[in-house]
Parts: sequence; structure tokens; C-alpha cells
Amino acid sequence: MTESQVLVSYRVENGIATFTLNNAPVNALSLAVRTQLQENLEQAVNDASVTAIVITSALPMFSAGADISEFSDAPQSPMLPDVLNAIEQAPKPVVAVLPGPAFGGGLELALACHYRISVADNKVGLPEVNLGILPGAGGTQRLPRLASAVTALEMIVTGKPRPVLELKGVFDKLADNQQHLADIVSDYIGTLSASDVRPTCENSLSMDQQTQAVFEQYQTGVEKKMKGFFAPAQCIEAVKAAFTLPFAQGLKREQELFMACMDTPQARAQQHFFFAERAASHVSDFDKTTETRAIKSVAVIGAGTMGGGIAMNFANAGIPVTLVEREQSALDKGLSVIRKNYESSMRKGRISEGDVEQRMAMLSPATDMSAINDADLVIEAVFEKLEVKQAVFEQMDAVCKRGAILATNTSTLDINQIAAVTSRPSDVIGLHFFSPANVMKLLEVVKTSDTSADVIKSCMQMAKRIKKVPVLVGVCFGFVGNRMLEPYAREANRLLLEGATPERIDRVITDFGMPMGPFTMGDMAGLDIGYFVRQSRQQAIAHDPSYAVVSDRLVEQGRVGLKAGKGVYLYEEGSRVPIPDPAVLDIAREEAQRLGIAQREDISDEEILVRCLYTLINEGAQILEEGIADKPSDIDVIYVYGYGFPVYRGGPMHYADEIGPATLLERLEHYQKACGEYGSMWLTASDLVKKLAAENKTFGAYQKEQSHA
Ligand code: NAD
Repeated sequence: MTESQVLVSYRVENGIATFTLNNAPVNALSLAVRTQLQENLEQAVNDASVTAIVITSALPMFSAGADISEFSDAPQSPMLPDVLNAIEQAPKPVVAVLPGPAFGGGLELALACHYRISVADNKVGLPEVNLGILPGAGGTQRLPRLASAVTALEMIVTGKPRPVLELKGVFDKLADNQQHLADIVSDYIGTLSASDVRPTCENSLSMDQQTQAVFEQYQTGVEKKMKGFFAPAQCIEAVKAAFTLPFAQGLKREQELFMACMDTPQARAQQHFFFAERAASHVSDFDKTTETRAIKSVAVIGAGTMGGGIAMNFANAGIPVTLVEREQSALDKGLSVIRKNYESSMRKGRISEGDVEQRMAMLSPATDMSAINDADLVIEAVFEKLEVKQAVFEQMDAVCKRGAILATNTSTLDINQIAAVTSRPSDVIGLHFFSPANVMKLLEVVKTSDTSADVIKSCMQMAKRIKKVPVLVGVCFGFVGNRMLEPYAREANRLLLEGATPERIDRVITDFGMPMGPFTMGDMAGLDIGYFVRQSRQQAIAHDPSYAVVSDRLVEQGRVGLKAGKGVYLYEEGSRVPIPDPAVLDIAREEAQRLGIAQREDISDEEILVRCLYTLINEGAQILEEGIADKPSDIDVIYVYGYGFPVYRGGPMHYADEIGPATLLERLEHYQKACGEYGSMWLTASDLVKKLAAENKTFGAYQKEQSHA
């Protein structure tokens, strides 16, 4: 073995054998790492001079766990559970020494050791559930033997990391810092001998009444909070096995449940999504050598719904923000909404009183545009009118320093036309935040035909600083997310006209896993928003007199949604619970009659799903063809983070791959034909869908091919 292949080094000093993981960047437990761990263990066990073994890391992280890139290959020995069992069965004490975080298999490795020592300022977790699986290397059996049932369930079922300070039963010693950690190791481990071997598996557990109640509580919680997900219930089952079965049988049960999760569409979807999220930051517009612009101060123009939320993101990250409004009263109102938001977070215990004041102090209110002259990034969030935005950009161009990035939060306008009024179109970019902007993680970063590479790169990096998930897209009406929503809402409206009730359509969509159906969502956003958009898009829709006609009628009657207490649904005072209203069905009947559309009773759930969702996917394919989105997985990231698309379905394009390209095309063509003239107007499959179906190729395969092209 050459020097460079040593991923787990071996050293013996004063009778202590130290195995040091060094598989950058995160000590993934790859086949080579597992093999070397096993070899080192054999060597240390067979060396009579060795009295104790230390497993530690040369990197800031102890280990991030399994090498996910191996998931798609056939498993190869030695498998992690076997290596960990061998460590636990070692006749000499084995101590895990954590200089930094341990996740997944990394924590399972530590749990299989006889002792654990960590720096106190550290976090560990078992995030497997986020990949649609469960810890499959003894984690579900060993963690409950060291921590309480509640802690084990909490960590395994939610996948959330925990500070080691909260895991006193799991860690034997905590060090104040790295030096202290080294001191503990040398003072403490030298005192251990064979009699100190303490396998976790020997801690016995039983299911008493109190523990039983904890499991029941978790079961109910999971059914409510994680509706639709398969893995969380399997996690509970696995932890339960630790309390009801002897250790060896518990491990077997864990394996069975692990395998049951591994080979499911959900696990495939969640693992796809894991990579999709990371891939979103890899774009061909810039590379490692592209310089970035420092963003040390920000200005936001407009302190309304979006401007206030956008400003909060920067204040939260400790970046000073100048907030500009036209009038003092609007500014005061905007600031008071921000304060109320922070105070509400404080009441919920998410931030302290000090945090509220510290964050408010990050905001400098102004009513004069000259206040933005020194900002590195300016984000415009004024009314959605081209002339208004162009006027603001002319002012921005006049006062902003050279090199400042000029961004707009427009949802629908042509950013090229906004950039064109400035003397520096290459500095102009779209930053499309989603509402509520301080909560939603998605940020569509919209490049124009002139946006420079360094501006794009700077914005993608800035997004991460404010804890957003940025996805780079191009300019078109609605960009990626809202453009794909158009066919979805259009079909929902048309199905209502054809005789399906709003609650039925919404139910089909929520059964699929979306957080709410199109009509509930429309009412919540305000039906007037879609109405105004339609007014400005007559050219694109006027050829279809049936287009969202029921919604138009409702808006004309003042039924603009939740804020009016009535829209497609009725709402009781102060309630957000939608109540079906037969009057809406009357409107649909009247309009159908007027337009000569026969209402049908035979609309199936499948038809609703295909016409709303497959058309959304079809639009995604069209977007890819036009190069508005870089790759299918970017669309998945946009839909999961921006629209609540169920992550266990991986996003719309991954879902299309699960259906298969041929079925996607066949179903689209079926309903195109069935819908006659309307079908030929709107339901034509995109060329890319046709091409993939003809070649029997998935969007995933298409993405791989594109990345190699
Ligand atoms: P809003 O009406 O709540 O806020 C707009 C604010 O801009 C108002 O407070 C107004 O006084 C201020 N303003 C107008 N002209 C100004 C000027 N010249 N200088 C300074 N301030 C000025 O609107 P909003 O919902 O916050 O939307 C703002 C932008 O964000 C729009 O482009 C909209 O399309 C986009 N957007 C909105 C949402 C959403 O869900 N609301 C989501 C994404 C993007």
C-alpha cells in the first residue's frame, strides 16, 4: 500500500495503538476505510504490547458516516456493521476520541467503541432518516443502550444533530478544547487495561410501562408530523427492538428494517435529493478561478412584505442592512413588522431578547436613496410594475458605488428590461426570494443575458451566508418555479369547470404529498394576484376563453381568498380552515354551460393527478430545453424548498423518473386526445419528454449525459 492510500493510519506509543482517520474531506467510511480499520484492529489485538486502542481523526470532523456514493453499488465486505461488531468485541478497551462532529456511521463507530471522549463544543447525529433509511450499523441498538429511549428516538426519528453536552450518558469525558482533549487522552487511556473492556451491547434494556408510553407518543407524533414518510416508522420499530430483543437479534431486526427502507422509491428520492441540493451550487457559469465581490453591507429598497423579510435574513447573519422606503410612515410600519416577527421568535424561545435588539440594530432605516451609496449589494423589492422598478433602478444606478451588485426581487418581470435602464447591466441580477422571505429557504438566482460571472458567483455564495439554498435560473415569465405552477393551476381550474370539486382536486394533490392543494394555496396567496397576472398576460391566454374563468368570476365578486373570508372556499372569522361552498360549483356549472363545456362525472383521481402534475413536469422539461434551468435536479431543489413538494418523492423531475418517461408521455398524450381542442391547446408533450420516452431515458440519465457533454 502506498503512503497516499493510508486512510486510517496506525501508530503505537506507550502501549496505546492509535488509528487516525484521514479520508478528506469528511472521513466517509468507504470500503478502503473499513478495510483499514479492520486490519488495524487485528494488528492491535495481536500485538501483546498494546493495552488500549484509540480511534480518532486527523480532520476537524470525526466522521460524516457512510460513503453515500457507494449506495448505488453492490455492497462490499467488510461491511460497516461487521467492522463495528469486531471493534465492540475487541479484548482490549477501545476509545473513540472526537475532535469534531460524528454523523451517521461515524457516530455508530463511536457507539461501538467502549468509551467516548469528545470536545465539549461538538455535535453528533444520526441523520439517516433524511435519506429515507435508518442507521444500519447498530446505531438503533447501541444508542438506546447508552442514552434514554427519548433521546435515541429523538435523534434517530428526526435525524437532528444534538450537542454532546446533552448526551452525558453517551460520552465518558468532555474536553474544553483540543489541547485538553489531547491531555485527557494521554492521562486517561494509559490507565485502561483489558479489565476495562465494556461492550455497549452488554447493557441490558427492557420495555417498562413508561418506555412503552414514550414509544406510543412517538408513533402518534410521526403519523401526524411526518405524514407520507416511510422511514420514520421503521426507525421507531428498530429502536423498539433494542428494548424487546436480545442485542444480536436486535441487530438482525435493524438490518431487516434497513433493507426494507433501502430498496424503496422514497430512499431513492431522498438520496437523489441529497445530491441534487449539493449539485445546485455547481454551475458552469463560473469556476474556482472566478473572483467574487465582497458583500459586507446590503441595502433593501421597499420595506413591504418581501423587503422586510429579505432584510431580516441579512440582519440575522450579522450583515448591516439599509432599509429604504418612500415615506417615513411606510418605513415605520415595515420596521414594526420586523420587530414583531423577532419578538414572536423570542416568545417561542428561538432567539433571546438580546438577539432581538442586536438584529434590529443591524437595520438602518432611510427615506433617501443616497443612503445606499456605499452598499455592496442592493435588493429592490418595490411594487411589481416595470415602470416603477425601472425608475428605482435608474436611481440605484445614479447613487450606487461602482462594483455594487444591483438585484431585483421581481417575480414575473423581464430583468433584461430592468437592467437595460442602468449603465451597468452586467451588475444586475434577480434574487427571487419566496414568501415569507425570512423563512423560506429557496432563492432563485436569476441571471440575465448580461449578468457577469463574478456577480452570479458572489450571489450564490452570499445566499449560503444567509442560510438560503440558491438555484441559478434564467429569465422567463415566472422563472422556473412559478412558470411550472402555471399549467398546474390552469389544469386545476379547468377541471373545476369540467365538474370536479375543488376539495376533491385539493385532496388528490395532498394525498400525493403536497402540503396543500391548488385551491387552498390560491385562496391563501390571494386570488387577486393570479387575476392581475392574467390581466397582464392576455396575449398568452386569450385564445382560451375557459382559462381560470371561475377564479375570475370569484375575484370580480370580491371573493379574493382567505384575506376576504371567502374565495374558492369559505372561511369562518379568524380561521384558516377551508369550507367547501356549493355556490362555487354553481358558478362552474354556469360558466361551463356558457362556454359549451360538458361537465363530467367520470373525472378520476388519476386524471386530476396527471393533468395537474404531469403538465407541471412537462413544463419543467420545456424549461430544460430552453436552458432556463441548468439541470433537472435544480428543478427538484426549487420545488422541494420553494413549494413543499414532498422530498420523499425527490422533486417533480425525479418523480417523473420513477413513473418512467414512456408512461409520462403516454399519459400526457392520452389526456391530450381525451380533451379534444382544449388538449391540443395546452396538453402537448414537450420535445424533451418525447425524446426521453423514445430513448427510454430518465431525466437523471439525461442530466449525467449533459454534464459530460
Ligand atoms: P408590498 O406592496 O408589500 O411592498 C412594496 C413596498 O415597496 C411598499 O412598502 C412600498 O411603499 C415600497 N415602495 C414602492 N416604491 C418604492 C420606491 N420607489 N422606493 C422605496 N420603496 C418603494 O409588495 P411585496 O409583496 O413585498 O412585493 C415586492 C416585490 O417582491 C414585488 O416585485 C413582488 O413581485 C416580489 N415578490 C413578492 C412575493 C410575495 O409573495 N409577496 C414573492 C416573491 C417576490
